[in-house]
Amino acid sequence: MNEKQPILEIKGLKKHFPIKTGFFNKVTGHVRAVDGVDFKVMPGETLGIVGESGCGKSTTGRTILRLLDPSAGEVLFNGKDLAKLSKEEMRQMRKDIQMVFQDPYASLNPRKTIRQILLEPLKVHGIGSSREERMKRMEEIIEVVGLRKEHLDRHPHDFSGGQRQRIGIARALILKPRVIIADEPVSALDVSIQSQVLNLLKDLKKEFNLTLIFISHDLSVVRHLCDRIAVMYLGRVVEIADKKQLFNNPSHPYSRALLSAVPIANPKAKRERVILKGDLPSPANPPSGCTFHPRCPVANESCKTKIPILQDIDSGHQVSCHLFAEGKLKETKEEMIG
Ligand code: SF4
Repeated sequence: MNEKQPILEIKGLKKHFPIKTGFFNKVTGHVRAVDGVDFKVMPGETLGIVGESGCGKSTTGRTILRLLDPSAGEVLFNGKDLAKLSKEEMRQMRKDIQMVFQDPYASLNPRKTIRQILLEPLKVHGIGSSREERMKRMEEIIEVVGLRKEHLDRHPHDFSGGQRQRIGIARALILKPRVIIADEPVSALDVSIQSQVLNLLKDLKKEFNLTLIFISHDLSVVRHLCDRIAVMYLGRVVEIADKKQLFNNPSHPYSRALLSAVPIANPKAKRERVILKGDLPSPANPPSGCTFHPRCPVANESCKTKIPILQDIDSGHQVSCHLFAEGKLKETKEEMIG
C-alpha cells in the first residue's frame, strides 16, 4: 500500500437514530448523532476525536467499524468502501480494524476465563492452525500488555480496572489489526492508572505500527497521545489540525473555549478561561445554521441561518466557521481570550 494514501477516509458520514412514538411506533423524528463527518487518517498516525459527551464521537467510532450501520456517507479502508465489500472482505476488514471499549467491566464476559475471551476472535477468524499455535499467541499477547501467562486462566473479576483494560487491549491486538479505535479507554479508570494504560497504548502503537483513533472528552489525554486532533460538536467536526496547531492556535470558537479549560504547565503563561453559556443542544432538535450559534460568544446574524463548511485555513488545518470566510477569525480570538 502507498504510505501516502489514507488508511481510512470518512466522507459525509451520518448516523441518525429514528425516534419512535405511540402504539404503532411511528417515526416522529431523528436523533442526528453523527451529521456529516469528514476526515482522513494516515497509516501509523494517531488521530484524536474530542468533544463533550453527546457530541457523536463514540457513535462515529462505532459507525466506522460498522457496529452501527451508517445512515449516509462512506467509510473507505485502504481506498475500499466498506459498504461495498463482499462477506469475505468484510470478515477480513473486521480483523484489520479493532475496537477497545470504554468500560473494561462491561466489555469482558464475566463467565469466561481470559483464555476463552482471547480464543474467541482467533476461532472466528480462523487464526492459528493448531491449538498449540493459538495458545502460544495468547501467551505472547498477554505478556505484551504487561500481564502474565498464569492470568489466562482467571476470570475478569479477578483483575483491577487497569488490568481489565489491558485484557481489552490484548483482545483487540490478538488479531494483529492495522487500525485500533479506542473509545474513551481510560475514562472509567482511576487517574493513577490512566497514564499507565495510555503509555501502554503509545508503546504498542509503535511496536505494532498501528494506526490509532483515540476518542476522548479529555483534551489533556488526547494531547499526550495524538498527532492530529478533530474537535466535534453536535455530530460534526468543527476543527481538525495537527496537535501543535490546535493547541497553539485554536481557531474555531468552540475549540478556543474547550482549550481554555486545559491546565497549562507554565504558571507565568496567561490564559483567560472562556465559559460557554448553556448546555449542548439536543441532537434530536439541533439549532439552525451553525449549530454552535446559541452558545457562540462571537456569533453574528448569518450564523443563525447559514451552515458553515469545513475549509482549509492553513496546511492541514481545517475549520468550520463563517468568520474565516469573512476574515474575522483572528480578531474574534482576541475578543474571546485576550
Ligand atoms: Fe460562532 Fe458563527 Fe463561527 Fe458558528 S459560524 S462558530 S456561530 S461565529
